[in-house]
Amino acid sequence: MADYQYNSTSKKAEEFINDKKIKETLAFAEAHKDDLELMNTILEKGREYKGLSYAEAATLLECEDPNIIQQIFDLGKEIKEHFYGNRIVMFAPLYLSNYCINGCVYCPYHGQNKHIPRKKLTQEEVREEVIALQDMGHKRLAIEAGEHPKENPIEYILECIKTIYSVKHKNGAIRRVNVNIAATTVENYKRLKDAGIGTYILFQETYNKEAYEQLHPSGPKSDYAYHTEAMDRAMEAGIDDVGCGVLFGLNNYKYDFVGMLMHAHHLEKTYGCGPHTISVPRVRPADDIDPEAVGNGVPDDIFKRIVAVLRIAVPYTGMIMSTRESAKTRRECLEIGITQISGGSRTSVGGYVDELDEQGGFDSEDTAQFDVEDRRTLAEVVDWLIDLGYVPSFCTACYREGRTGDRFMSLLKSGQIANCCQPNAMMTLKEFLMDYASEETRAKGDALIEEKLSLIPSDKVREICREHLKEIENGNRDFRF
Ligand code: SF4
Ligand code: SF4
Repeated sequence: MADYQYNSTSKKAEEFINDKKIKETLAFAEAHKDDLELMNTILEKGREYKGLSYAEAATLLECEDPNIIQQIFDLGKEIKEHFYGNRIVMFAPLYLSNYCINGCVYCPYHGQNKHIPRKKLTQEEVREEVIALQDMGHKRLAIEAGEHPKENPIEYILECIKTIYSVKHKNGAIRRVNVNIAATTVENYKRLKDAGIGTYILFQETYNKEAYEQLHPSGPKSDYAYHTEAMDRAMEAGIDDVGCGVLFGLNNYKYDFVGMLMHAHHLEKTYGCGPHTISVPRVRPADDIDPEAVGNGVPDDIFKRIVAVLRIAVPYTGMIMSTRESAKTRRECLEIGITQISGGSRTSVGGYVDELDEQGGFDSEDTAQFDVEDRRTLAEVVDWLIDLGYVPSFCTACYREGRTGDRFMSLLKSGQIANCCQPNAMMTLKEFLMDYASEETRAKGDALIEEKLSLIPSDKVREICREHLKEIENGNRDFRF
């Protein structure tokens, strides 16, 4: 095995995600887990709201002292409130195709699974799914597809994106399409950028090369370096909003935690901008998949600590949690770090339109990628968030205003983003309340908007926002800062 040296700005996977460096970092963290003085020094640095190195974050994560753990949660909460206020961005996944030639052992779409029905949406079906999503109130989607050069080539994905943006049902519109598809070439990333995508999302699954190769025994995804270097190619192609993530439970969580922060550090150092978002999925049961058999399960208390330490380590990065998690876990994690959640999700191909074929043929639920724990509708999730004092936001303004990559980051770091996010959150919530909510939710939501208007720092922006809210009541749509 080659002896790779750590180099954060190298373009070589094994150098910017360096196994030796990760193990050294974990050994340091383990050796210092009882060093309360060091923990307090790290927390002090975290209180500057400028983030932590992966080594500092790993050390903090290792600490078992109840007082330090409480301080981690408190600081995660403080940072979340400072940068993101009480806004929660909403999105939904849209599964286009479950044809896949890869062999990922934790995913029911793996090519060797012969008993899962295979399905790929036609453009008409994409349209129907999008109408169903718009009728729920969604404005932001993450499209998902397996890797299959024949069934789902890049041309198919591009056509679907075009279809999605073209559908306008009643007052509905999908205003941002994030894309979660397999690692591809610079040329294809350029085509995705030209199609107007929001964030390019690709989960690393695990950063441990050995584990990665065992978990991905066949197909193009089995190439660890090609997969790990995908974000570099996306950024070279001009996509500057990328979303990272690991699938917690596949491998030792401490290793993947450090690997993910090392990846963020690499992107920041090399391209001047870290990941736009980080997702924190955990392995879930599915057809042909038993999480117990995969091992390395991450218990709830550790999971929450991961979320809070990530919030402290990368304060400028949005953090996403899906409906894989229960309402309880989502509520707890929203408090300490999560900024974006999905709602009313279907993780199957064609899941938003009832696909049950009268002839007893195809049931879309049979094609689910994983079991959903939080099965509430979007309307229920919105109502729940309002009750918790959050402003559910359907905002998609930044990329439509060209605020991506380092432009977005500098606005966030300066605190000026609050003059965009806060009014945008309220105006898009107002749209939802007018078009999709029950009377009861509308009354609660209107009261919340009135109460939270004062959180807009600029007097001028607040006044314009008030005017726009009135215009939305009068039937106009799509205002943004
Ligand atoms: Fe295919 Fe993705 Fe599932 Fe792997 S995780 S089998 S690449 S759909
Ligand atoms: Fe996100 Fe930008 Fe909207 Fe804020 S203004 S919620 S950062 S899209």
